[in-house]
Amino acid sequence: MRRPLVIGNWKMNGRSASVARLLNDILAGIGDCKAEVGVCVPFVYIPQASEILKGTKVMLGAQNVADHNSGAFTGEISAGMLREFGCEIVIVGHSERRLLYGESNELVASRYEQAIQGHLKPILCVGETLEQREHGRTLAVIGAQIDTVFEFAGVQSLEHAVIAYEPVWAVGTGHSATTGQAQEVHYHIRSLIGRWNPEVAQAVQIIYGGSVKPENAAELFAMPDIDGGLIGGASLDARAFLSICHSV
Ligand code: PGA
Repeated sequence: MRRPLVIGNWKMNGRSASVARLLNDILAGIGDCKAEVGVCVPFVYIPQASEILKGTKVMLGAQNVADHNSGAFTGEISAGMLREFGCEIVIVGHSERRLLYGESNELVASRYEQAIQGHLKPILCVGETLEQREHGRTLAVIGAQIDTVFEFAGVQSLEHAVIAYEPVWAVGTGHSATTGQAQEVHYHIRSLIGRWNPEVAQAVQIIYGGSVKPENAAELFAMPDIDGGLIGGASLDARAFLSICHSV
């Protein structure tokens, strides 16, 4: 009943020429893909990507969104601006934002809230570092990340959101979590939401990210609580990304 979802996170990669090429190659190969598919491109390429993706089934997204809707917030881009250029989805709380740019649970939660209010679907990234995992804190860390979002926006907001479990030690390292490790955390996240609202818990898409590639996608996506993937490195290669999209 939950539709599979595959999202590409291009991070800070590409130039206009490669953006056009990659999007056109994705559109050429997407065919009758069973998954919902989206790409989160760098801000400046959103207008270009929006033209190319208009009227297609590939959703357009951004990689972050402001925690306010307008005003004196130099360097930020609001949900309304992103909507104006055709964005439907936005990544919030990516581990690179949390760790390299110091985004706290509270800041991530207010970005999430702004996305919801601006009718953008947030893809809320949660996940533990290797150190936290080794200290047995995985579930506590993720619980705090999710609870803060509930405090800001309420559990019901998950009807319009997606959760991405991205263990920090698996992002960009080539070492994916095992299917067992990922399924265990996804199950925990769903149970945690279920304590607040069982219907929302069953309906929300929880996708996995961290070194997903054509070789491991099918196995990960076959797990009962893994509803698809958030794909970094492999989303920059049309063949690899399409192969992952067709693995559901
Ligand atoms: P990766 O990145 O697939 O390159 O590990 C995933 C992500 O950062 O969303």
